[in-house]
Amino acid sequence: MQTSTNLGRVVRPGDDAWDAARGTFNLLIDQSPEAIAFPADDREVAAVIAYAREHGLRVAPQATGHNPGPLGSLAGTLILNTSALTGVSIDAGARRVRVGAAAKWEDVTPQLSELGLAALHGSSPDVGIVGYSLGGGIGWLARKHGMQCNAVTAIELVTADGRLVRTDANNEPELFWALRGGGGNFGIVTAIEFSVFPARELYAGAMFFPLERTSDVLRTWSGLLPALPEELTTWATILHFPPLPELPDAVRGQSFVIVMVALLGTEAEGRELLRPLHRLGPAMDTLAMQPPIGLADLAMDPVNPLPYLSTTALIDELSPSAIEDLTRIAGVGSTVTMVQLRHIGGALARHQPGAGARATLPGNIVMFSLSVVPDLSAAPAVEADLDAIAAAVAPNRVGNYPNFVEQPTDASLFFNTETWNRLRRVKSEYDPQDVFRGNHHVPAS
Ligand SMILES: Cc1cc2nc3c(=O)[nH]c(=O)nc-3n(C[C@H](O)[C@H](O)[C@H](O)COP(=O)(O)OP(=O)(O)OC[C@H]3O[C@@H](n4cnc5c(N)ncnc54)[C@H](O)[C@@H]3O)c2cc1C
Repeated sequence: MQTSTNLGRVVRPGDDAWDAARGTFNLLIDQSPEAIAFPADDREVAAVIAYAREHGLRVAPQATGHNPGPLGSLAGTLILNTSALTGVSIDAGARRVRVGAAAKWEDVTPQLSELGLAALHGSSPDVGIVGYSLGGGIGWLARKHGMQCNAVTAIELVTADGRLVRTDANNEPELFWALRGGGGNFGIVTAIEFSVFPARELYAGAMFFPLERTSDVLRTWSGLLPALPEELTTWATILHFPPLPELPDAVRGQSFVIVMVALLGTEAEGRELLRPLHRLGPAMDTLAMQPPIGLADLAMDPVNPLPYLSTTALIDELSPSAIEDLTRIAGVGSTVTMVQLRHIGGALARHQPGAGARATLPGNIVMFSLSVVPDLSAAPAVEADLDAIAAAVAPNRVGNYPNFVEQPTDASLFFNTETWNRLRRVKSEYDPQDVFRGNHHVPAS
């Protein structure tokens, strides 16, 4: 390991800290960059960028390593890890939060909850706020309040020429627009500011049904969706809990189809809206009025890194044949660990004034499925099952949500032509030599 007052901490191949530094959330990804820098302030960030340019290297920003898969080979690339760029401040009166690039959702949600506020976080407390926000960010309150990227009010970043720039609606607005959906292709974000929303209590929790009820539950759930208000978000999840000691007895090693619920409303409203699902008789039901912190871990996402493969799609509806196929492919003895179907639409389908490059998302449901790969010999069977899951929803596919795409992909497919060309123009202006590698790459035009 080398430390210089100029670059900050840098870890290189052969250093004792190398394997720990290059590890990510997905244990199947074997990252081999040229080096990993951990700058602790804006100046060190600028020095790392200058060093990379002098040495003909590109720079990949990384925070928690929750989505490194799309980067592919890191030959000729230096990872700039943002974990030393800490700092959190909450202005409850203005309902504004400012965090450094190291911050994860778990660094702000408990305090916000105590203040009667909720952020537009997603399913995992462990995900980085900046990476989540630059890719869009869809969570429990997205149907009501939209994507997190469009709740962002200012972004500070160091650009390819080493300038520290503060962007917002009035300062360098094109860059501000591009960052909100265009990902880490335009510079190293050092701090981000965003709005949060009043929420003292929500009706939230999960209904657990036996796996054998999967098709009944999915049919009932998808039939309800068109009539549900934007205040209500439900996610239907087929989940095979692994036999991990840290899981509660009631779920460890067991399989369920679960409907997870977040309602900005009362228990009486929730019970009325969800009556057809209650009637199916869940085996366990944790729905209750609770403060917003109850959403932080509602999805029971894993916090420890694991080896896995995934697939995803935005779809307009869950057809009867897709329900049949998903029930079979993810049924008893499946290699598939999870199939999650999140109800979207609502505010996600409306272009808000002043929105960023990721202004809307098509479709009414986002499907995300993952399989833990216990050893590499299991990978072909896992891949075949994930392909079958993707094929089951393919007739209703209307696009892809970039934050959920974990393989190298042509990023132009995430945007319409006008937005893509505009992103490339911003890239040409701020990073003409293509120094920065966001995980989904936007090239200069
Ligand atoms: C368990 C889990 C749960 C998730 N839940 C949700 C969810 O509910 N909703 C949702 O929308 N997404 C969700 N995601 C997807 C997540 O939002 C993306 O993986 C996101 O990119 C993670 O950001 P990160 O910084 O944690 O990861 P990293 O892999 O560290 O970063 C991902 C990308 O973000 C960009 N980036 C990160 N930091 C910076 C920076 N400082 N400057 C410039 N660019 C930067 C880069 O392009 C980088 O390649 C989830 C992912 C996982 C693994």
